[in-house]
Amino acid sequence: MMSELSQPGRPRRPAPIWQAGEVVEVVVETPETSSLRIQLPQPEPFLPGQYYNIRIPVVGRPRPIQRAYSVGSSPHPRFDVIEVGVKEMEGGLVSPVLVRECPVGSILEVRGPYGAFTWTEEEGGPVLLIGAGSGVVPLMAMIRYQVSKGTTVPMHLVFSSKSAEYVIYRDELSTLAHQYDWLQVTHTFTRETDNPLARYHRRIDKEMVEEVFVETAPKLAYLCGPPEMVDDCERSLLELGLEPDVIKTEKYD
Ligand SMILES: Cc1cc2nc3c(=O)[nH]c(=O)nc-3n(C[C@H](O)[C@H](O)[C@H](O)COP(=O)(O)OP(=O)(O)OC[C@H]3O[C@@H](n4cnc5c(N)ncnc54)[C@H](O)[C@@H]3O)c2cc1C
Repeated sequence: MMSELSQPGRPRRPAPIWQAGEVVEVVVETPETSSLRIQLPQPEPFLPGQYYNIRIPVVGRPRPIQRAYSVGSSPHPRFDVIEVGVKEMEGGLVSPVLVRECPVGSILEVRGPYGAFTWTEEEGGPVLLIGAGSGVVPLMAMIRYQVSKGTTVPMHLVFSSKSAEYVIYRDELSTLAHQYDWLQVTHTFTRETDNPLARYHRRIDKEMVEEVFVETAPKLAYLCGPPEMVDDCERSLLELGLEPDVIKTEKYD
């Protein structure tokens, strides 16, 4: 299968090139987030957790503006279509266009894959995945990858959203957590105080990290989302005794 990246001893892959991807499906995930499935004319193998750059022309700017977007789909069994999950940032240059103005058939310039925020079954677990908002996207790639490969490494996703309405991949996560013993999903809602879907109703904090840490006994942790949340969680995990080299972080700044 073509889903493995270059490894030590193998020749290095050439630097990624810009290519014209076609949007082949759009899934509205929440009021502010959509997933775009993009068919690549020159697909490259990637690893779960990596990202692509997307650039678009912006009126008044001499050159296209580019932003990074994690891939939410699994590279296995196919990597010729990538799915990115984009949250609209009010007043932003790129994300509102991707969320509101890219119907099926749109052509987008994309380049990738990039990044070392990756997980495969060789890394083992248990794995603690902590994400906030669109920070769940690369974590979902890791979960979907494990589903597609049929491996059973324990994973615990702790996912912070504003409310149930804003939970990206809500139905899929619920189905998978019921279907697979290896997957636990813990929601926290920051702006909804009484929804039973969530175990917590506050921002991710030290006490929460400690509780899920004790339950999960992780060997590895992946943290993704706003820089402050990632830094706070990393600090908490270090205080709990996790070694720095088993904590991987991706900051969406
Ligand atoms: C590795 C990586 C992976 C990522 N993956 C994802 C992902 O999977 N999904 C996702 O949704 N995002 C992801 N991001 C974030 C993404 O790259 C963009 O940063 C995000 O979409 C915002 O881009 P934008 O062009 O819409 O907003 P920008 O134009 O960058 O603006 C961002 C915010 O700043 C404000 N702003 C801009 N200029 C000014 C100014 N002069 N004064 C005051 N305020 C200003 C805007 O109003 C807006 O709210 C990722 C980032 C990284 C680094």
